Amino acid sequence: MKFFKVRSYFSRISVSKFLLCFFLFIFFGVLISFFYIVLTTHNNPIPDKAVQEKINNQKNIVLDASELYPVIVKGIIVPHTTEEIVKAVKENDYVSIGGGRNSMGGQTASEKAIQIDMRELNKIISFSTTTKEITVQAGIRWRDIQDFIDPYNLSVKIMQTYSNFTVGGSLSVNVHGRYIGLGPIILSVKGFTIVLADGSIVHATPEENSDIFYSAIGGMGGIGVITDVTLSLADNVNVERSPVLLTTVEYKDYFKNNVRNDSKVIFHNGDMYPPEFKYVRAVSWKETIKDQTTYNRLIPQRKDYWKERIAWVVMSEWPKGRWIREYIIDPILYFGDQPVHTRNYEASYDFAELEPESRDKSSYVLQEYFVPVEKFDEWVPKMKKVFNDNNVNVINVSIRHSLPDNGAKLAWARTESFAFVVYYKQGTSDKERAKVSNWTREMIDQVISVGGTYYLPYQLHASDDQFHSSYPQAIEYFEIKKQYDPADKFTNKLWEKYYSEDKLKYYKNRNSILRLASTTSEYFRPYDNACLSIPEWFIVYNSLEYSRALSNSTPSSFKYFSAIKEYWKEYSNVNSLLASSTNNNSDYVMVLRVIGISYSFELAVKGVYENTLGRLTEWLAQGKPVYEEKVAAQMNSDYGEFIYDYPWYDFPYGSYFKPLWSRSDDSNLTFGQYIRKIERLVFISLELEVKIAYSKLIAFFTHQKFGVQDDNIYAIISRDGGKNLELFSAPHYQPFTRALLSEMNDAIVYGNDFQVLDISGNKKITFSFLIPEGDASSDKIIELFRTKEGYFKNDINLITKERVHAEVEVINIFSVYKNLREQRLTIDHFYDY
Ligand SMILES: Cc1cc2nc3c(=O)[nH]c(=O)nc-3n(C[C@H](O)[C@H](O)[C@H](O)COP(=O)(O)OP(=O)(O)OC[C@H]3O[C@@H](n4cnc5c(N)ncnc54)[C@H](O)[C@@H]3O)c2cc1C
Repeated sequence: MKFFKVRSYFSRISVSKFLLCFFLFIFFGVLISFFYIVLTTHNNPIPDKAVQEKINNQKNIVLDASELYPVIVKGIIVPHTTEEIVKAVKENDYVSIGGGRNSMGGQTASEKAIQIDMRELNKIISFSTTTKEITVQAGIRWRDIQDFIDPYNLSVKIMQTYSNFTVGGSLSVNVHGRYIGLGPIILSVKGFTIVLADGSIVHATPEENSDIFYSAIGGMGGIGVITDVTLSLADNVNVERSPVLLTTVEYKDYFKNNVRNDSKVIFHNGDMYPPEFKYVRAVSWKETIKDQTTYNRLIPQRKDYWKERIAWVVMSEWPKGRWIREYIIDPILYFGDQPVHTRNYEASYDFAELEPESRDKSSYVLQEYFVPVEKFDEWVPKMKKVFNDNNVNVINVSIRHSLPDNGAKLAWARTESFAFVVYYKQGTSDKERAKVSNWTREMIDQVISVGGTYYLPYQLHASDDQFHSSYPQAIEYFEIKKQYDPADKFTNKLWEKYYSEDKLKYYKNRNSILRLASTTSEYFRPYDNACLSIPEWFIVYNSLEYSRALSNSTPSSFKYFSAIKEYWKEYSNVNSLLASSTNNNSDYVMVLRVIGISYSFELAVKGVYENTLGRLTEWLAQGKPVYEEKVAAQMNSDYGEFIYDYPWYDFPYGSYFKPLWSRSDDSNLTFGQYIRKIERLVFISLELEVKIAYSKLIAFFTHQKFGVQDDNIYAIISRDGGKNLELFSAPHYQPFTRALLSEMNDAIVYGNDFQVLDISGNKKITFSFLIPEGDASSDKIIELFRTKEGYFKNDINLITKERVHAEVEVINIFSVYKNLREQRLTIDHFYDY
């Protein structure tokens, strides 16, 4: 009885109390571990950056915000007046300019230059509440301006999210914030004063010295030292937060319908949740007449941001950190009554909240990509793929908006754009840096592919080509720089990388050629087309083999079914190669399917026929080909050559009726040969009829779907190692291959340093060459797959037995060609998109 009582007691508590105890146990377990981690690893105060910077300055070490690129400069000068700047500029051969030093790739320093540290030039020069304008010295920080104008209930019109940056540094980068209906800071600049390389002091506005105005803003310290700036101000209204959780696919329309044209929205950003990027939390701050929910008008400046630091560690280091942010932290943060701030409060964040305990082993880093608004849906999967393929430790991607900037020479928003601000963590080892460099270049390629741009104040990973593709007006900027700074006095790591006399000459030439190309034809062709055209070319090669079979053997000797199998193998090969492509290739894949089905049908019918009735009449004719077979062999040989150069559906099938029906060898035929003759006449005539009808149909649909294609393929080549560039063009398909091979052949004969720099806007191309079975191929190529040659029995001409399909960087084409030539191998086709 007692025993049962005890059991019933336990069975009563087991449901409610046991579960409660269990959850309390787990809860406290997690809490204790959390505090353990916090106390053991993250309880130190933020390192005193100012103290560290003083020590560095004494050693002439300039650090950027990421601390990844320390530069030991020639000296650091801290001017307090414009005259001191003029003196420093006149006395030194090379000068770099430092604002808050928050750029992240050495944009404020160079080993060969002194740095002018602008931060002591930080006074308010004049201010007007009537015109709502302020003139400040360029080394002043936004926060100092906010402290000054807040009592007048005015706000900075455009600035970054954080308030620590200097005005000069912000102008020089042409920064943006989270403002709606605005964009780059240039839209709020009335004018500025600048010290040029010769020491002259010049005032620039959109009307006065406009070339200086539009090149120094966004000019990354390359034109001169901006000493004071006049800015428009805005009213310091109250703003209420309004968050919405959306799927990423809903975001663009939501933005267009609810944010873009709502004049009440002052700030807006969309936070994307990595690694899935499925959701965006769209956060708008709308003008309101409601009272502030905070006591302070500006965010009080704190010494310690330990809670924020822990949150960053959780998000970037904990196994489920990003999940915790998406499903626990943010829902709690955005739940319930929404705060009302002043505009100034919402613009006065301190980026000390982002500062980690140490940047020795890893660093939090920013990157930014600008994408035309209409390309949002195309861009997001591309961005996600680069991150996920490279295991990038992305903490946040924040979406901002910008109207077009039609003025700045180095404008990052040439059209209305979304900015994708990427905040991620990276290691500081050489290996980690190299990894970041690789995926950043991949990302830049992707952003260029959607007509976008990357941002200049971050790490300098972009190649020269990527820089010029992203900033097509860089040439104009460099010309202006050359005019005002002929000795290249104003320099830093950025301009050391991308600017020199030689580079200017080269890219001027290249750009004029690109301009010529894009005005004379549809220069650009999608890269994936190269790979996608491989199965089509199998049909081309195979048609030639078929014609050889007809000329040298009998129709029944051809391996019809092996050819069908091979086509579909190639079809599946290219599909798997492009499986991870983010381009929409569905139309081309559909065309390959249609072609494949009709090709397979044709071969299957022929295969069955030639091996039954055809083989019987072959036998009756005692293996001696009749006249009609010779016509068929000729037609197939003509066809095989024709389709190397032109689309197959343009082949003049009709012109073969006449020779076919001329009945030229009617006499002296045996009975069996006569039967074969009649059978061939009927069979070949039927084949012609079907092909005429089918080719007309396909030509019609192809032109409907893809239009009539431009016949030419364009490439940028050089015959002198890249010093002088030329626009090279040749007709599409095999003529392009022939022309390029002939150029390379000539280059060998004349000893030219031949280079291909670009083909149809692409840096890579797919090509094929024939080799003996099982042989190794060439270096500098990526072998994609091989196919077997030999589709009729006893082909005596067959020497090379495998066709290698490979990818090559266009810049390496010539060396690969020479390498194959040495092995007595020839390139048989460039798949010219
Ligand atoms: C945490 C963080 C958040 C950021 N958020 C944003 C953001 O929301 N929006 C955005 O657009 N960017 C953002 N950035 C990038 C930042 O705005 C730029 O790096 C900006 O230049 C920093 O200002 P700075 O005063 O530190 O300039 P610096 O880094 O010191 O200088 C930047 C460039 O300006 C030049 N320069 C500086 N002063 C002058 C002058 N007086 N005359 C001529 N040239 C000068 C320098 O030579 C250098 O090339 C962010 C960066 C960080 C680190």
